Amino acid sequence: MKLLKHENHYWKVGFIGLILAGVMHLLFIPLFLLLGVWELSLVNIFSVLLYAYAIFVLGDKTLMTHDDRTIGWLVYGELILHGIVATYYLGLESGFHLYIYTLAMLPFFTQRYSAPVQIVRLGGIIVVALFLNVYFRDYQPLAGVAREYVFVLGNVNLVLFLLITSILIYLYTQSETVHYDRLFHRSNIDPLTGVYNRRYLAEYCEKIFQNKVTQNRSAALLVIDIDHFKSINDTYGHHFGDFVIGKAADIISETIGDTGITARWGGEEFVVFLPEADTEKLRQTGERILDRFRGTTISNGKHALAVSVTCGGAVRQRGESFTELFIQADEVLYRGKSAGRDCMCI
Ligand code: GH3
Ligand code: MG
Ligand code: MG
Repeated sequence: MKLLKHENHYWKVGFIGLILAGVMHLLFIPLFLLLGVWELSLVNIFSVLLYAYAIFVLGDKTLMTHDDRTIGWLVYGELILHGIVATYYLGLESGFHLYIYTLAMLPFFTQRYSAPVQIVRLGGIIVVALFLNVYFRDYQPLAGVAREYVFVLGNVNLVLFLLITSILIYLYTQSETVHYDRLFHRSNIDPLTGVYNRRYLAEYCEKIFQNKVTQNRSAALLVIDIDHFKSINDTYGHHFGDFVIGKAADIISETIGDTGITARWGGEEFVVFLPEADTEKLRQTGERILDRFRGTTISNGKHALAVSVTCGGAVRQRGESFTELFIQADEVLYRGKSAGRDCMCI
């Protein structure tokens, strides 16, 4: 299966890297002319054309293809050749070989290559870097550019190299964070209601119940189920049923505020976790929720309806797991249902 490019940070970062490289090579053209090394200006014209082509090919498509690999190799080749040729003309002191070092980290930005391939690629760059250091040691550069100029150029290239490396790493981690946030949202938030889902709530509670600092603190769970929901669906349709579920989630999470965490357990059932709550606090919270529902008419402009809920609550005993606590709250919920609904049982 082909990967979507926008899902892959490697390409995003690579694309920006290409733009940076293209712009820099463009600026080098007049610079080399000023220094009187027209051969290097010529090399840079080819480089700019190569980067323009790469940007065109990569930016144009949403799917990764084989062309992209060819581009990858072209860029590798360009950076290495450019580094070597510039060193021939201006010597190691000019710092153009530094850009070759950016290639050392590239294979590690993606999981697409196996570890041996990544290591071989890194090894290749190490070999090139060592070759340059050994071959051009005590070397007399081909172009007779004044040493002061070469010295300044070397420092400019050093700073640019460090900037480019940092920018690429920054963009990559930035993109990772955005990706992580999106995944977190997709895996922990219920899409219909915007409250947490059962996975998040269960994991959150288990973490608190197992944490050395918080494991012995009191905590309570409230299970809330909409009454006669099936008949709402049957009478007004599933679409309005969904709307009611969404509004119920709003009512519950508004009532809870930041005293607890609201999650949709499934269907028309919600679970509220109340950290550090005792029986009294649990009862108050449940009654507040019942009152809010009693005083609300849920309306979408087409249908308007008074909806009631039944609550089952349980306070955690020392050492109890989340599942044990949930089962208790769920059991007392059904006591409330048998007792006529629109009520709270603990
Ligand atoms: P009770 O008062 O005993 O809770 O009765 P109830 O009708 O609310 O309970 P029951 O469990 O019989 O019915 C729940 C219904 O909720 C059945 C199912 O079709 C419906 N349902 C479950 N998930 C969704 C959903 O995401 N959207 C809608 N519209 N309906 C759903
Ligand atoms: Mg129900
Ligand atoms: Mg139910």
